[in-house]
Amino acid sequence: MTGPAVTGPFALGAALAGRAQVGLLRNRIATDGATGGRLRVAGRDYLNFSANDYLGLADHPAIKAAFNAGIERYGTGSGASPLVTGYSRAHQELEETLAEWLGVEAVLLFNCGFSANQAVLKALLGKEHLLWQDKLNHASLQEMGSQLPCKMQRFGHNDMAALAQQLEPNRGLIVSEGVFSMDGDQGPWRELATLAAQSGNWLMIDDAHGLGVLGPQGRGTLAAQGVHPASVHIQMGTFGKALGVAGAFVGGSRELVDYLVNFARHYVYSTHTPAAQACAVSKSIELVRAADDARAQLGQLIARFRQGAQALGWQLGASATPIQPLLVGESSAALQLAERLRECGVWAGAIRPPTVPVGTARLRITLSAAHCEQDVDRLLDALGPCSGSATSEGTHHG
Ligand SMILES: *Cc1c(COP(=O)(O)O)cnc(C)c1O
Repeated sequence: MTGPAVTGPFALGAALAGRAQVGLLRNRIATDGATGGRLRVAGRDYLNFSANDYLGLADHPAIKAAFNAGIERYGTGSGASPLVTGYSRAHQELEETLAEWLGVEAVLLFNCGFSANQAVLKALLGKEHLLWQDKLNHASLQEMGSQLPCKMQRFGHNDMAALAQQLEPNRGLIVSEGVFSMDGDQGPWRELATLAAQSGNWLMIDDAHGLGVLGPQGRGTLAAQGVHPASVHIQMGTFGKALGVAGAFVGGSRELVDYLVNFARHYVYSTHTPAAQACAVSKSIELVRAADDARAQLGQLIARFRQGAQALGWQLGASATPIQPLLVGESSAALQLAERLRECGVWAGAIRPPTVPVGTARLRITLSAAHCEQDVDRLLDALGPCSGSATSEGTHHG
């Protein structure tokens, strides 16, 4: 390190040094693969409680076979953007499957959830519009919202009274999440749908963490809460979490999809996902729809973990989903706890600001149907009783 750069327009070194000084510098760890609820890092196997592979499908033989067969048929790359020649029969079939599964008129595929969210907001919202977002929405939504010419208002997490006060009739779009990615709790979708209908505004759900996990056939948060899909104008979901592959989609009316095909720049100007990937996702959806047993088993593991962690004195979030945050407060405390678990062969991610609000650093534990009861018990053994010492040590640095 040579210190902050003094020449050139970008003070990269100073920005990095600033992050390091407050203990928030991030770096990556190259793994040697994650299968069956396990993770291999630097020659050692860990129990993996940090992935979003909630149904254990990321290494499922039938999905791998569908991916391989797709490669044999279509090759590895789609070769072009969807409006040129990148859109194949495999993409079309996946769109039709998703539309039928989720009860929407039409669906459009995107390379990832981050770009799907950004594409939708950018294509819809002009300076005459308003955008209302839950303040814990994903970075892709917050960031695009703040860069657009529309006015953005953020409401307190799941605070429907606050949202009702902010709403103006016929002015724009309300966006919230099915399952919140760092807290594991759900948005109140009946109330959101009512507020949207009463105020004449559109409503969008980001169900990245609900799809596949919640509701009959894994149809997601809306199905789990008994909310009719027609009362939510835009449904967004991803294929890289419970579905175990990669990519994302946006669903809604045929008119919405036609509009996005014409105006969503992230769609029009980007090489389409490989057709083989669409084949893999289609197979994954077939498995997910039939996976009620795996979802029931996952529910039992979640209950076992929550009972055990509470008995040990840990502070849990209000979550009934596979995302189970252990709230510890200070960043350094979260890092120390993650380190202590690693020494016991258990991998769980410390989540720090700016990913979560300052003072709410946490261990983000995620459960999977690939785990068994003994895995959860090993996690609880590794956690041990909450002494509170991690939190108080943390405050010395904070
Ligand atoms: C992961 C995630 C995304 C982004 O999806 P990718 O396909 O990983 O880009 C969007 N929204 C939420 C809530 C997420 O958790």
